[in-house]
Amino acid sequence: MNRVALITGSTSGIGLGIAKQFAQNGYHIMFHGLESNGLEIATQVGNKNNVKTAFSNVNLMQPDQVEELVKKTYDIFGRLDVLVNNAGIQYVSPIDEFPNDKYEAIIAINMNAAFYASKAAWKYMKEQNFGRIINISSVHGLRASEYKTAYVTAKHGVIGMTKVLGLEGAPYNITCNAICPGYVRTPLVEKQIPDQAKSHNMSEEEVINKVMLKKQAVKSFVPVEALADMALLLAKETSSTITGSEFVLDGGWTAQ
Ligand code: NAD
Repeated sequence: MNRVALITGSTSGIGLGIAKQFAQNGYHIMFHGLESNGLEIATQVGNKNNVKTAFSNVNLMQPDQVEELVKKTYDIFGRLDVLVNNAGIQYVSPIDEFPNDKYEAIIAINMNAAFYASKAAWKYMKEQNFGRIINISSVHGLRASEYKTAYVTAKHGVIGMTKVLGLEGAPYNITCNAICPGYVRTPLVEKQIPDQAKSHNMSEEEVINKVMLKKQAVKSFVPVEALADMALLLAKETSSTITGSEFVLDGGWTAQ
């Protein structure tokens, strides 16, 4: 049996890396994201790995659309084994200038969507007596940085949610874990560089070396492939006792 994975935000960055790794390992994939070439990406990955894929571009700001995405996945594939709550956005600003709409969008996409998707997936996973929920939190789910009120709040919230779902899923062979990456060079991070440069009054080069990677002992971006390997491990049948935990891939940031 080929298992089925729904990965939110899988037409870019970390989500795409996870989707490719899962497809290479025989998973059928429900791709999702706002990128205009999403269908093309899904088709290419499917053809290359001989697995079934589909694509949705629903907006995770809307709870009913999140539920629709999960239902659509089940309707198309007939199962839902792995849910990776990965989609996320970032906005960097001192609190007194932080726009309310940006705060609310970050909470909705980075945290609330994980709740609505997990809730909708729960009934299928319970029926199957198998489910693997993987939340992509962040080192910012465990540590704070200035100018990231909304992001740090949401990512800490996701870790709390992960623990609760780990407990509630235990009787049904549903696990829930969080992956906490340090800095990964994806479009989300590329977009932050100019904002951070402005907030810190530095050049973009200085922001990378003195702000972003400052707290990592390993002075390089975390490879997407390492996160994908971690997700694949958490999704395995044999990982049934790994639950309610966070897995930190942060170049030694939180070791300090
Ligand atoms: P990315 O910008 O490359 O990808 C984000 C994905 O989310 C895209 O597919 C985008 O279309 C989707 N998305 C954004 N808003 C959406 C919305 N309203 N509705 C539906 N889809 C939406 O970002 P990434 O760096 O790959 O980030 C993926 C996850 O990893 C995020 O949760 C992010 O917070 C987390 N993370 C990233 C880093 C990093 O350094 N890049 C570090 C730690 C955690």
